[in-house]
Amino acid sequence: MERFDVVVIGAGPAGCSAAREAALRGAGSVLLLEREEWPRDKVCAGGLSPPARRVLRRMGLWSRVLPLGYPIRAARLRTPGGRELLVSGRRTSLVVRRRFLDALLAEEAARAGAVLRTGCRAQGLLLEQGRVRGVKAGGASIGARRVILASGAGSRYGLRPPPSSRWLACLARYEAVPFEPHTIELFFDPELFPRYGWLFPESGSQVNVGFCLARGQRRGPPAGMGPRELLERFLRRNLGERMAAARPLGRPRFHPILPSSRVLHRSLPGTLLAGDCLRLVNPFTGEGLSYALASGRLAGRVTASALRSGWAEPRIRRLYGRALRTSLEPSLRIGDWISRRGRPLLHWAARAASSRLGGRLIYRALS
Ligand SMILES: Cc1cc2nc3c(=O)[nH]c(=O)nc-3n(C[C@H](O)[C@H](O)[C@H](O)COP(=O)(O)OP(=O)(O)OC[C@H]3O[C@@H](n4cnc5c(N)ncnc54)[C@H](O)[C@@H]3O)c2cc1C
Repeated sequence: MERFDVVVIGAGPAGCSAAREAALRGAGSVLLLEREEWPRDKVCAGGLSPPARRVLRRMGLWSRVLPLGYPIRAARLRTPGGRELLVSGRRTSLVVRRRFLDALLAEEAARAGAVLRTGCRAQGLLLEQGRVRGVKAGGASIGARRVILASGAGSRYGLRPPPSSRWLACLARYEAVPFEPHTIELFFDPELFPRYGWLFPESGSQVNVGFCLARGQRRGPPAGMGPRELLERFLRRNLGERMAAARPLGRPRFHPILPSSRVLHRSLPGTLLAGDCLRLVNPFTGEGLSYALASGRLAGRVTASALRSGWAEPRIRRLYGRALRTSLEPSLRIGDWISRRGRPLLHWAARAASSRLGGRLIYRALS
């Protein structure tokens, strides 16, 4: 049987950063398994938030990611009451297609020493006396001293039991939709609120547009609407005439988002979970890239230390859980608080941002 010290399932941002960190920190041999052929796109708007930029900086990768994306210098928000606020500043953020971002992250994991195997789906975990000892993949068994599960939202390896809160997210790409250069737009449509829709420019001529909606939301579009009708309704309500000459690039795609207001780490002995597998998505913004990168790094680091020092399972879990709670839980809790009290907060922000100074201060706080 083929054997590795560490097997990582899923080459998204969480899996790539976990594999890279484990390899860099001396975990031994690392295998990164990805079911899709490479390069692949993931259903994602690709907005790199200020926290994502900070993690990429810490990883020493921001300067390599920067040329892959479209720079963002401002955000235009439409509040549920129809007010608009423009927040802008000097710091640059980025919208980047996932096929480019993930390919770079996987390349970096390989450069650090991990073996990347694409087109290879993990089909199950190898269990021995209640502990995971490897993975079944591509019709073979692969032994592992430890496994990191980073296979994304809704994956069979994710956190159990299934979440009580689940969003449906939709994403579509278009050409020939007029937009303000270097500006993302967020639509706090009353039908979606406290969720929202967006328009993110991906290049000088192409945008991605989408929305997320919580299942069973109190206010919302008429019941019984299918996802495609929901998208059309969203576009009519928020972009109207701007869609007149729009040319779709591919079909709209739908994907679940599983947000969380807390870090709840539970997994089988021998494994750690990272990223969307652990539901690390902000319950207000829906952003998960910074959490995926940060949790993947932590999982890789703890795994490497555990293998080098022969730590027992309870210690590994305690340290990983503590590190996640310290670094990631505060922003999840803030996101949860805002999503429950967001309407007055947005109205206040809209009023504050109508002055130049207010707009600057808000952008600074956001970036
Ligand atoms: C419509 C939409 C828009 C979004 N926009 C943003 C945004 O603008 N900014 C932001 O920060 N976040 C955004 N998110 C959230 C973000 O996409 C996720 O939080 C992020 O992708 C999580 O990364 P991950 O590595 O945990 O999982 P993923 O990116 O889902 O990666 C998991 C990988 O595992 C692979 N995999 C799955 N099963 C197996 C298997 N059995 N064997 C091998 N490989 C497997 C998958 O193919 C995939 O490559 C958005 C999400 C959606 C749905």
